[in-house]
Parts: sequence; structure tokens; C-alpha cells
Amino acid sequence: MRRNFLKLISTSIFSLIFLPYKFLYSATKKIINQNLTDQQKNILFNEGTERPYSSSLLYEKRGGFYHCANCDAKLFSSNSKYDSGTGWPSFTESLPGAFKTKIDYSFGMKRVEYHCATCGAHHGHVFEDGPGENGMRFCNNGLCLIFKPTK
Ligand SMILES: [Zn+2]
Repeated sequence: MRRNFLKLISTSIFSLIFLPYKFLYSATKKIINQNLTDQQKNILFNEGTERPYSSSLLYEKRGGFYHCANCDAKLFSSNSKYDSGTGWPSFTESLPGAFKTKIDYSFGMKRVEYHCATCGAHHGHVFEDGPGENGMRFCNNGLCLIFKPTK
């Protein structure tokens, strides 16, 4: 009984602290593309992750730009794409102002989450082990991206 009460109290405190934040954060996200699949929505709006090596974009070698699957904002140039061997489409840099970041402590790890600056949808995590001059590796879910080759 006492244990349940304590549990209730701690859950309430937890909700009081985190719900407004969650609410504010999710309020900045909106579904723009009404044709998103459930899998895409889970990644874009619940910070899910696709299975590694599942994205056909891993093998995309053409020149062009990668756009947000939700709002169509231009996020990456094909010039910054490289094969990181991780199983997710990887980039050394994004286009200027394409993303905003936040610290993500889920799964007991401290990672930097990034989301579309235009629509707020989650795209992936950025790590500091990239091969480029800035040392960044944008690890992006392929399902969040739409590739448009330059004609
Ligand atoms: Zn977007």
C-alpha cells in the first residue's frame, strides 16, 4: 500500500516535470505529409529507429539533395554522404540551418538527437566520429529522407 502510494507520488512528480516539456516539444512537431506510413511516423514523431541496412538510400550514389519526408525541407547534399558501415545513411554535414539538436539520454546513453528545423520531426543522432574536417557523423534514418537527384 505504502509502496504504491510512493510510486504514485513519484510518477506524479515525474509527470509534472516532464509533461509540459513533452507537450511543448511535441507541439512544435506537426504532420505535414499526410501520406507518411506508420513506420515513418514512428521514427519522425516518436524518435523510433529503422532496422540497420534496411534503407535503399544506403546504395544511393547519384548527385542531388536529401529532403525531409515530412515537410520536404532540403537537409543534406549528396556531397556530404558517405558509407559509414553502420547500416544507416550517413553524412558529414547538413545544409546550414537544416536541423536543431537536443541531448537524448534514452537507452542509458548520452547522444545528440537532431530534428528538422522546419517541422520538428526527428531524423537521427549526430556523433563525433565522422571522417570529414568537422569530425561529424549524421546518422539518419533513411525512411525520414526523400532523395531528389539533380537533373
Ligand atoms: Zn521537416
